[in-house]
Amino acid sequence: MAASLVFKLHDRGPELVREVLLERGWQEYDGGRQEEEDWNLYWRGSMFGSSEYHNLLPWQRLNHHPKTAGITRKDLLARNLRRMRATMGSALYDFSPTAFILPTDYTRLLAQCNRLQRRGGASVYWICKPVDLSRGRGIFLFDHIKDLVYDCPVIVQRYISNPLLISGYKFDLRIYVCVKSFHPLTVYVHQEGLVRFATEKYDLSSLHNVYAHLTNTSINKSGPFYKTKKGRVGPGCKWTLGQFRHFLHSQDVNELLLWQRINNIVTLTLLTIAPTVPYCPNCVELFGFDVLVDAKYKPWLLEVNYSPALTLDCQADVIVKKSLISDLIDLMNYTPADRLRERAHQEGRYRACCRANKPSRVPVPVLPNKVQRKTSGLHPSHVHRLPLLKNPHLSEKINQRESRQQAFITSCQTHLPPVGLNATECRIIEATGAKNHTNKALNLILSTDSRRNVSGVNERTLPATAPRRTRRRRLHVSEVTQRDAAETEVELETDASSSILDVPRRRLETRASAASWTLPNIYSGNKRLVSFPLEASTAVNGPPVPPLRVGDFIRTFPFNPATLKASRLNLDVRTVTQELHKLTAELASAQSDSSKLRTEEEDGTDAEAGADFESLLWGPKDPPLISQRFRTS
Ligand code: ADP
Repeated sequence: MAASLVFKLHDRGPELVREVLLERGWQEYDGGRQEEEDWNLYWRGSMFGSSEYHNLLPWQRLNHHPKTAGITRKDLLARNLRRMRATMGSALYDFSPTAFILPTDYTRLLAQCNRLQRRGGASVYWICKPVDLSRGRGIFLFDHIKDLVYDCPVIVQRYISNPLLISGYKFDLRIYVCVKSFHPLTVYVHQEGLVRFATEKYDLSSLHNVYAHLTNTSINKSGPFYKTKKGRVGPGCKWTLGQFRHFLHSQDVNELLLWQRINNIVTLTLLTIAPTVPYCPNCVELFGFDVLVDAKYKPWLLEVNYSPALTLDCQADVIVKKSLISDLIDLMNYTPADRLRERAHQEGRYRACCRANKPSRVPVPVLPNKVQRKTSGLHPSHVHRLPLLKNPHLSEKINQRESRQQAFITSCQTHLPPVGLNATECRIIEATGAKNHTNKALNLILSTDSRRNVSGVNERTLPATAPRRTRRRRLHVSEVTQRDAAETEVELETDASSSILDVPRRRLETRASAASWTLPNIYSGNKRLVSFPLEASTAVNGPPVPPLRVGDFIRTFPFNPATLKASRLNLDVRTVTQELHKLTAELASAQSDSSKLRTEEEDGTDAEAGADFESLLWGPKDPPLISQRFRTS
């Protein structure tokens, strides 16, 4: 029998990931018994070091992409959204409350407060949040600048003072987003998520009452009314998104439009960093997007969580998070060949895949390796990141290893796939028995023929071999499982946008200049000639389309042929935003003219438009195909 897939958890957690993987037949990595590289998934709550990306092998996956602090740190998110607002227009990027990063923006904040005061009218409220804390720690509200006191970097955000209330209680939504790849951008959003309630009635006359204004579970769990039945909300402080859908149905609201707006927030936020995230195909990331819906059903982005909490506090957590993790593992696309890591290792014909996997002719940022960093004339402030190079013996060792790997890379010419084999190859192995064909499978892993993206391999195409989905049994609420101490903490960077890892590889031969940190020229709006990597351009039906859904993860990007095309080379942000805009406008007008909601049977042209590219509308319980609703371009 083929060996099991092996997972490695940093710092013993999170327990839920262990539980789900063990149920699926995985084994936990044992450092005393196993080789250093003998694992398939390394899961961490905090960031990986650059060496971990560098030394990644074809059968290995990490649960974080490099360099995503640009959206997961409150100040960097505010800065990036401000930049996008300036470039793409405030009408598009109007989903985040106005924010000031202090101390830098203090005078701007002061001027704004004075302006509002002079104008008179209704009171304006502000919320102050430390930039690198989570779970509501250090947050407070104020309505006059004199009450603003801070002793660490903070952001001050306009407080959304008219939230949608259920039975008088404020809530926000936790939306789970999986970025399967940044190059090309491929995004899945989970159908299930959480609704997190405050546990005391919303009241603007008591700004200091955290139980009325903050919806963090870590705060409300210890509130005096946590267990009390609170009108329609019930006891506790969480619902599933399914329960929220139920609530929406009882309101006269265009549900599809609300979900699509939330979906737009996700895509537009990811667009702010996508062009600068280094290429690293074996990484998959689960983000937690916190969204507040106001009384007019407008969704607002509050923040993006780097490692969303996976603790099980209540029944809603159990229902949502267990299947979430199981679906996430399915998205990682493991194949039988990934179990053969030991043999591949012995053959020695492996290489680190982040550095070398770069699809040919696709100018995306890649991770510089240690030698490149050493010779690239980097700024002295970066030297502390490279302590090994100060030691001449270690430095020589690294050089030797690099040259061995480089020789192998050169011999390969093309890149390895993000996952092991394509569907046909997997079937060959499975049909003939993995045990007798270890070498063949190994050759398949290592052969150039196998170096294709196999994102289409899933349970449907590989029923016998794809990782099985865990049976959705309802568990009883356990005590809070292990506290994931690092659940939303990120290593601090002085400025993620100017970090060493963002340097496009080809520029490393010269000193990294200020120009290296700027976004590629994606905002010109000019139609550019799009050329595809060789494999994609020779495909009969154009570039490969990622699966429509994996478990309850719905592919939300790309969502039509135009966005698929726009995501292939330098991400064409303008085209993407135009397409988002079109779709949202159609959904908005559909409410006033329900005849526009058509079905395929009513109009044969839709079936034609969606023949080789289908997308679901994320959000509603049974998501309809976009092509069944609208004519897609
Ligand atoms: P943390 O990372 O500490 O959880 P958040 O930004 O998520 O910080 O804020 C914590 C809570 O404060 C949110 O869940 C929400 O209830 C409330 N909150 C944050 N920002 C705003 C805002 N601009 N308007 C209204 N409520 C907010």
